[in-house]
Amino acid sequence: MIAMAEPAIAVENLVKKYGKTPALQGISFQVYPGEVFGYLGPNGAGKTTTIRILAGLSSPTSGSCRILGQAAFRNPALYRHLGVVFEESNLYERLSGIENLRFFAALHGVPGTRAQELLQAYDLAQAAKRPVRTYSKGMKRRLLICRALLHDPEVLIMDEPTSGLDPTSASVIHAAIDTYRKQGKTIFLSTHDMAEAETLCDRVAFLNQGRIAALDQPKALMRRYGQPVVVVQLKPSAAMSEAAKESISPDQVSWEDGMLTFRLPLDQPNLGAQLDQLRSCGEILTIHTQEASLGQIFRQVTGAKLD
Ligand code: ATP
Repeated sequence: MIAMAEPAIAVENLVKKYGKTPALQGISFQVYPGEVFGYLGPNGAGKTTTIRILAGLSSPTSGSCRILGQAAFRNPALYRHLGVVFEESNLYERLSGIENLRFFAALHGVPGTRAQELLQAYDLAQAAKRPVRTYSKGMKRRLLICRALLHDPEVLIMDEPTSGLDPTSASVIHAAIDTYRKQGKTIFLSTHDMAEAETLCDRVAFLNQGRIAALDQPKALMRRYGQPVVVVQLKPSAAMSEAAKESISPDQVSWEDGMLTFRLPLDQPNLGAQLDQLRSCGEILTIHTQEASLGQIFRQVTGAKLD
């Protein structure tokens, strides 16, 4: 019997070494039912290693990983409760979409009608009888999601489910995640897409070199790490003096198509005087405040550049 005590996922001081390579160096976090938990980090940070441990495919060198109160590693009692969407397609390419789903439905003891329902819901009904090798990347990803949802698991683990997809295909997957969360299920989402994480995730963890560098709600991280700025777009007057240009530090201004965009820290003491000076330099077109983005925080806490 599966204990439904919270949290749905509990990871404690997880260490994983491949020979001498330390892939995870003491990771701890919990994910609660109804939560979308984002897992972000540069290439090689340890995301896939974590996912393999959560999915029960790999054992930690030390520490513990529990899903719904049970040890994750090779635990058949969890198979009914866990759905996993891997980044790489591991579908049977020669079989059709419906055959792929029926095969897994039989393994889970789920009626074939559930496969039909999912194919319909994910806009794959028309292509249901075509071999999967003829599917586009977006279609394969949707079929992988159908397969993971066949047995209506309580916990869904997704490894970069939208990587390489166009915005329309990605939005279908975003809607699926949102629907699933609203049913009170738990979603662990590894992604490189900061906008996706910001929109979908209740909390995010930034992983760097096998350690969690920051973990919180996206808004809280933006407040903590971000330096809010005032963004002013200006059409400079011909008379704008070189002296006025030089008084503004180069990392606060950019030129594009004859327009100047200034980014002035909101909390600097002489902000009022700077805005007055800008007014005398030309015509102000727009002025608005901007929080730090998750992308900026990613660079700050991991020191890595986004692709
Ligand atoms: P990416 O975003 O590129 O998929 P990741 O965050 O998923 O990266 P992992 O694949 O978990 O990172 O790798 C973490 C570290 O462990 C890397 O240094 C990687 O080279 C190493 N590693 C992963 N799998 C193995 C393995 N089977 N044998 C040896 N080293 C490995």
